[in-house]
Amino acid sequence: MDFIKKLKEFNKQINDLESGLYLGEKRYREIYELNQKLEAEIEQRTKDLETANRQMLTLQHILDMMTSSKPLSGVLNAIVNSLQKELGYLHSCIIRMVKENDKQLIEITAHSDDDFSSEFETIVQTPIYESKIKYIKNDGIDEYIKANMAYSTNNLGECFHKFFPDINLQLQNQLFAKAGALSCILIPLTVDREHYGSLLVLSKREETTDAELNFLKMFARQIELAITISNLFQAVKSQAISDALTGLYNRRYFEESIKKETIRANRQNQKFSVIGLDLDYLKQINDKYGHNYGDIAIKTIAEVLKKNARSIDVPARIGGEEFNIILPGIDSEGAMAAAERIRKAIENQNIPIIGKITASLGVATFFEQTDDVDELLELTDHAMYQSKHDGRNRVTLAKPTKDISWQEVAFNTFIDILSKHRVPLESEISDNISKKLETIGINNDGLYTISDTMIKLYNPNYTPGITKSKVLLANSLAKRFDMPKDRIDNLKIAILLYDIGNILLPKQILQKKAPLTDEEKNTIKSHPIIAAREILEPISGMNVILPIIENHHENWDGTGYPNEVSGNKIPIESQMILLIDAYFALQEPRSYRKAVDKEEAIEIIKTGSGTKWNPKLVEEFISIIETEEF
Ligand code: GH3
Ligand code: MG
Repeated sequence: MDFIKKLKEFNKQINDLESGLYLGEKRYREIYELNQKLEAEIEQRTKDLETANRQMLTLQHILDMMTSSKPLSGVLNAIVNSLQKELGYLHSCIIRMVKENDKQLIEITAHSDDDFSSEFETIVQTPIYESKIKYIKNDGIDEYIKANMAYSTNNLGECFHKFFPDINLQLQNQLFAKAGALSCILIPLTVDREHYGSLLVLSKREETTDAELNFLKMFARQIELAITISNLFQAVKSQAISDALTGLYNRRYFEESIKKETIRANRQNQKFSVIGLDLDYLKQINDKYGHNYGDIAIKTIAEVLKKNARSIDVPARIGGEEFNIILPGIDSEGAMAAAERIRKAIENQNIPIIGKITASLGVATFFEQTDDVDELLELTDHAMYQSKHDGRNRVTLAKPTKDISWQEVAFNTFIDILSKHRVPLESEISDNISKKLETIGINNDGLYTISDTMIKLYNPNYTPGITKSKVLLANSLAKRFDMPKDRIDNLKIAILLYDIGNILLPKQILQKKAPLTDEEKNTIKSHPIIAAREILEPISGMNVILPIIENHHENWDGTGYPNEVSGNKIPIESQMILLIDAYFALQEPRSYRKAVDKEEAIEIIKTGSGTKWNPKLVEEFISIIETEEF
């Protein structure tokens, strides 16, 4: 019995097992299928997520750009580039309608840098950003734009031909075919409730899904926001009156204030002073402790200025480490006292890590040293540099213009050229010359050294010491013509500077061994004068020097340059420089000729008397060099 029972049970177990196995297999298959479905779904979801993620990142990217201080054109270009690259479009751009001479044109305001852009540029043969394309009123698309609705098409050639009728249809078709462009989407942009332009994308996909279109619309809203923010930013920026780092007034406000102060001073016949201040050795602080500590030094100065200012004073940061303060109603005595108080207060600060800092100050007063506001600022600047020159951490009162010697004018001009970077010099060279300027006294020999150093930069064959001979020779010559002292002084300054424009000449021309081409000769001819004008024009005291320099290549017979003037229409100072320059240049070798000796130089000058040079001048000149040692 037991056995049969057991056998039955066993049989049942086998049956159970069998049906279990069957069920298991079925369930297994079901699970397998389910699994596959799930995997496909996961894959799709992952793809969607990836797309969403990319879209999010692209939007995030735009947001970052919007809060940067890039100009709008930079922001828009970056936006269309990120749309094209990160979301795999062929091309993306922002187009706008512009009116020029009553013609409607399409301007490409921003575009992605891609192969399509370069192909397009080849076809229209102008850089995209410059190309304005004739716009033919196109009702189909106009309707969409008017209704502020997205427009998409697969009929690229035809659609674009309506926009760009000047460009050959076949070429356009080729362009799209080559790029593999199958569809185009255009989304109008509205800023301040007005149509701004349109976002345009070219896609390799024929279909445009709803999700894609929604995203592009969202993207377009971000572009509109970027434009709005940028416009606001510009408006706010142009109204700003304070400097972000220090909270002092900025340069713009300073300039406006000094204009108003000048008007008031003139109207009420009342003085005002300006203090100029420059932090000493900031470069060393930056190098030793880092830029952040340099900024702390700048902020410390700003705090001292704020504490020491009366409510009507205008303390301003006008450049990196330069400050100016307007003191209305204050004469130089008062301004010197105020400047000294500021100097001491700065010196007494103890900044963590850096320790002590100092500043150099200059003071000038309207109606005392000058009654010209531009000159007032230059005099302040010069006085400040005088403080630097005398050892820093001090205050200097500006000298009235009439008391400034020709040496000081020349010295200040060199300082100005170097400190305002009016000529492009490698920083090592510029630092070297600045150091020299610091150590020389403001005297003739110091000036000749600086002038020699500058000339050596563009004329490797130059013999140091010649500047001194030129100035002495000019002095003797000018005296023979009874030139008044102030004009002789200007002539001396011009001698130190007349060829400074050569620093701007390309090195390959200056050092060329082979004969120069006509074009290169023309560059040499015109450039120094233009350059001298560019370099020297903004510098105070140079307005009387510039005509002398400008005419120093005009020949007596009118065959010179740049203006081909002749005879006594050429300033006598320029005529003298032409002669003196030739005399010394002939005795130096040039890449295209050998040096000649003194006798030969005199012979050449005699031959050119009456054509190149003023005969009276040549006569006196020769009598000088034959009796004096030049
Ligand atoms: P000097 O006593 O002759 O004025 O020497 P300096 O080193 O202060 O002057 P220089 O004109 O040789 O160099 C000025 C340096 O100041 C160079 C520049 O990098 C730095 N600078 C300019 N603006 C700022 C700024 O806003 N922050 C910081 N940290 N440094 C600045
Ligand atoms: Mg400084």
